[in-house]
Amino acid sequence: MNEIRRTTCVMCRNGCQLGVVFDGYQYRMEYLIDVAPNNGRTCPRGNSASIVLDHPKRLSYPLLNGKETTWDHAFDLIKKWHQDVKPEEIAVVYSRGAGAAEVGLVRGFAAALRTENLVCGYLEPDNAFRFRLSGVKSATLDDVSASRATLLVGDVFNTSPVAAKRIIEARYADKQSRMVVIDSIKTREAGFAHIFIQPKPGTEFLVLAAIAGLIDAKLKMDIDGIANRTGVPRQQMEEVAKVLKPGVPGLIACAATTGRISEPYWHSICAQILAFKAEKPFVGFGEALVPDGKMGFGKLKEAVGAGRIKLLFWFGGLHPYSYPELFPEINKVEFRVATSIFKPENPLPGLILPVPSEFEKTGKGESVWGEVKFEPLADPVSGTRSLAEIVRQFGTVQEIPGDLFQTVKLEEVTAQLTETVNRQLNASKSESGNLFWLLGRKEAIGVGGFFEPEEEILLHPDDAQKLAVTEGDFVKVKSKTAERQFRVKVVSIVAEGTASVGVNVHQNRTLFSVEVDPGSGEVKIPPTKVEIWRVSA
Ligand code: SF4
Repeated sequence: MNEIRRTTCVMCRNGCQLGVVFDGYQYRMEYLIDVAPNNGRTCPRGNSASIVLDHPKRLSYPLLNGKETTWDHAFDLIKKWHQDVKPEEIAVVYSRGAGAAEVGLVRGFAAALRTENLVCGYLEPDNAFRFRLSGVKSATLDDVSASRATLLVGDVFNTSPVAAKRIIEARYADKQSRMVVIDSIKTREAGFAHIFIQPKPGTEFLVLAAIAGLIDAKLKMDIDGIANRTGVPRQQMEEVAKVLKPGVPGLIACAATTGRISEPYWHSICAQILAFKAEKPFVGFGEALVPDGKMGFGKLKEAVGAGRIKLLFWFGGLHPYSYPELFPEINKVEFRVATSIFKPENPLPGLILPVPSEFEKTGKGESVWGEVKFEPLADPVSGTRSLAEIVRQFGTVQEIPGDLFQTVKLEEVTAQLTETVNRQLNASKSESGNLFWLLGRKEAIGVGGFFEPEEEILLHPDDAQKLAVTEGDFVKVKSKTAERQFRVKVVSIVAEGTASVGVNVHQNRTLFSVEVDPGSGEVKIPPTKVEIWRVSA
């Protein structure tokens, strides 16, 4: 019998336990039925663990401008590039894929290079769940099962299959149980909801603020103004406030998808303010949490765009420069070094260094349900080098840990919240035009066939009629930043005037712009306005 190697799935923060066996020919998954939280179930992403280990696109040698090179040459080149630049012209970025200890090493590496340009490169909106409102209890799995008043914000079922099963069980365990869903797309979970609220794109956090304001009038929320801005009737928000009233065991669970959230910081904080006022535990689901750097990503983007950065290191991440929406800026950097576990789809300028995947490393981390340990499922792919080996080529590097969570106090955020709501209510006056809102959708697809195309666009039946298209026809979608072609799928899960595309595929993300999140100063990738028109196939 071959040995089962066990670990915590690294693909998101649900902390699922899984196993892999090497049968002498290939890796195959083992489903650990007796271990929580997933008890043998994995989503398609987690199910890809064994595929990642010997994926045909795994990178096992350094690439220079898309061509194979040696480690010695790569290190010599980096040393030469380093000599040609000043410390302030260097930027060091880290993203998911680097464990907590590795992020500490990257911080130490930036200190050794004497650069202040140390930046978190994980730009997904779920990173805003790092902000914790003091006094809010983090939900446990038992809280999920015991909930009789559950509020789901965003696509929680897709983001947490583990919680989804328990939420559905809790919903049917008691006739008095109530479930509310707030999302600008009517995903599967809305089908289980007693109350479904479909606000205008990107306005979920305003609805949350209004419901919190209905529970506690001291918050002084402009409920009617918010109703007008979000398109959600006051009466519907009052019903939800009644469902969530303190005293009923419940849960506030929140997900955040790229291209769907307009202000990630306030999305996270408003859900937590509501949790606090409703006296419910809170959980924010997502793929990763990565601590912030010394500089916000918005500032790096600006510095790169202005030509002030000449040498860029990008550590972690599944793909080099995972954000094609940043290519126009990144292409201005003269010397580029990135780590990757996969070969890039297209040759990228600069050096790409192969590193072990997260499934081949040891470490500790945080799942939404608490601390977890990672054990290697296999030895690192030959030819790869660990991040520690790479950074220590350039001298002594000390690990400098950073704080993952940032606590904020209710009294500090209340005044800012009023300002934010006012800003949003005023912004609504300037909305006009025949454009569509484009929303992002991130389904838990497997990563085995990396970069599976997401060629469909969801259109509401009335919009399909206006555009004179039917299912299977093709349309062009044009935003301020890109233009792409999609095949039409006609569904009423998107509201009239909105359309949705998958954002797992990097090219689709180029349609969305990278902007600064006013709440945190980090960046955001919000819903975007687009033109859509019919084209021939
Ligand atoms: S839900 Fe998350 S942790 Fe669980 S198997 Fe899927 S990707 Fe892995």
